[in-house]
Amino acid sequence: MLANLFPVLLLLVPSLCQYDIATVEYYVQLITDLYKNGETYEWPTNAHEYYSNTKRQKYGSYDFVVIGAGAGGSVAASRLSEIESWNVLVLEAGVYGDNATDVPDLYTPVRYTNYNWAYNSTPQKTCCLGAQNQICLYPRDRGVGGSTLINGLVYARGYKSDFDRWEKFANDKRWGYDSVLRYFKKSENFVHNDKQAPYDPAYHGTGGYLQVTYHQPQSPQLNAFLEANKELGFEIADYNANKLGASPVQTNTNASLQGSPLRACRKHKNLSESYWYCAIRQVSSNLYHPLGTCPMGTDPINGAVVDSKLKVFGFRNLRIADASVFPSPLAGHPNAPTVMVGEQLEDLVKLTYNGKYD
Ligand SMILES: Cc1cc2nc3c(=O)[nH]c(=O)nc-3n(C[C@H](O)[C@H](O)[C@H](O)COP(=O)(O)OP(=O)(O)OC[C@H]3O[C@@H](n4cnc5c(N)ncnc54)[C@H](O)[C@@H]3O)c2cc1C
Repeated sequence: MLANLFPVLLLLVPSLCQYDIATVEYYVQLITDLYKNGETYEWPTNAHEYYSNTKRQKYGSYDFVVIGAGAGGSVAASRLSEIESWNVLVLEAGVYGDNATDVPDLYTPVRYTNYNWAYNSTPQKTCCLGAQNQICLYPRDRGVGGSTLINGLVYARGYKSDFDRWEKFANDKRWGYDSVLRYFKKSENFVHNDKQAPYDPAYHGTGGYLQVTYHQPQSPQLNAFLEANKELGFEIADYNANKLGASPVQTNTNASLQGSPLRACRKHKNLSESYWYCAIRQVSSNLYHPLGTCPMGTDPINGAVVDSKLKVFGFRNLRIADASVFPSPLAGHPNAPTVMVGEQLEDLVKLTYNGKYD
């Protein structure tokens, strides 16, 4: 089972047009049913509604127990199980994904299923103002693959200065850009499927488990967008190669925010400034990228929960390897850095118990 965990992260389903009409009809029905289900689905109001009544049973003893098979946990478990003599137990609250979670960009209706823990934010004062009771949705996935089962698949690692800041927080070169780049490359299998799109091979790996490609099919507006950027003097650049510029998106899907002029902001006449400030506060959302709730650092007195070796302060054999350990946000999306954290955990644990890095 463990060997199969990591590929669950690779939610890249080939284009439907390669399939026969029966398959296309099947998916049309699946998606239609999913949206219909969303009209009547009631989210749980308490995580205890997910409590399992399965009788307790003995599963034996293990060298490592990984709790949660999400983006970080799946990588850690898969990598640790490479050492044949190690027994690794994975405890995941949810089940495997299905045909619906396998379809990229279908996270809106999949949110209305048991795959979603269905958290909400607390009432907000400065954002989510257009939402009921000023509470934003806070979806987190429940299943093997974690939130990658419903995420937008955008592959954006962040910028060099983000990780150099992490190095300072952790006081350890392991989290600086030169070091994390090695783990990003290790985790990645980059397929340069669009030869027009920028690609700097020095920054990409090709042998990892996490497949990265340029999004296909391209939106009809893409070329106009890139040309406009060139006209303004911006480079067309591989944004995962620590460069600033415009680019098609890397991975298999696209995420977009939609907003329209809002009634609550009508009194703001000054379209250059106060109207948009008001509108942003109304329609803002967290983009489902929470992180940093157990941040890495040097001193628990200052709020650090784990040290630079991902060990929880005050515990001997407990480590965390997920998005919660980020010491600060990134100029990117969190999935790729979470996978990178999982890869780092592998080396840290192998060094401790096996005496060597990979
Ligand atoms: C709608 C949406 C869109 C997103 N889009 C993108 C995107 O385009 N690009 C990007 O980079 N990031 C995106 N993200 C964010 C990205 O998916 C997360 O940052 C990443 O998955 C976090 O990984 P994690 O390992 O910290 O947690 P998760 O992947 O959420 O995994 C946590 C796992 O722990 C399990 N678990 C929790 N409690 C227990 C328990 N008590 N016992 C056992 N198991 C438990 C959960 O069921 C889950 O499987 C998106 C997220 C969402 C929700």
